[in-house]
Amino acid sequence: METAKTERLSYLNYFVKNISSLIFPHHCALCGKPLEEGYFCEDCCKKLPFIEGNTCSVCGCELIDGSEMCDECTNSMHYFYKNISVFKYTSEFSTMVYRFKYHKDRHLARPFAEFMAEKIKKANFPVDFIIPVPLHPEKEEERGYNQSFLLARHISKILDIPVLNDVLVRDIYTNSQTGLKKDRRRENVCGAFSVKNRLAVDSKIILLIDDILTTGSTMDECSRVLLDNGVKRVYSATLATGR
Ligand SMILES: [Zn+2]
Ligand SMILES: [Zn+2]
Repeated sequence: METAKTERLSYLNYFVKNISSLIFPHHCALCGKPLEEGYFCEDCCKKLPFIEGNTCSVCGCELIDGSEMCDECTNSMHYFYKNISVFKYTSEFSTMVYRFKYHKDRHLARPFAEFMAEKIKKANFPVDFIIPVPLHPEKEEERGYNQSFLLARHISKILDIPVLNDVLVRDIYTNSQTGLKKDRRRENVCGAFSVKNRLAVDSKIILLIDDILTTGSTMDECSRVLLDNGVKRVYSATLATGR
């Protein structure tokens, strides 16, 4: 009698599990392996280069010793108050980001944003609005989407902080920063951004969202323009850091 009941229950369990996997099919966002839950399989998860241990109190890069700041932040100032990043921009991770940015792998936005939201929550930034680093309209049209906006939208939903997507705009079509040295990167983005609705951000605290922080030139230029337009303070969060 008991055995029959247990059997019925395990059959029911099996049935429910299979039906739910039809309704909510999970696949590893990287290798495509079917999953019962979550976004990454165990093997892919192990490969993700999370930033751990001591980090720079300004730019959020991983530090190998117990210093408070990295050399870069000790020797130069940033317009953003503090940045946090989830991953190290290793060559393996850069291929994932490339897929996310250029190969229309938009589904990566959700799991990436969940990792970012978790870290932002822990950092406890007192933020009024989230602003994604904008693409030039022509570039967004070419690519089909702004990867930073996709991240920002998910983070906004998870943390319940509104996104402003039309306040900071990119007026100049800049070439990719990839391969450029720090000074050239700064020149490349200088004057590229402007604020359209000053009142919306007056005296507010902003969280900028972008995919990668490298020298910080883009983040700095966006922060500078926001601060020039009455913003009180700018925090930033990126998926990965190349520092
Ligand atoms: Zn996988
Ligand atoms: Zn730093």
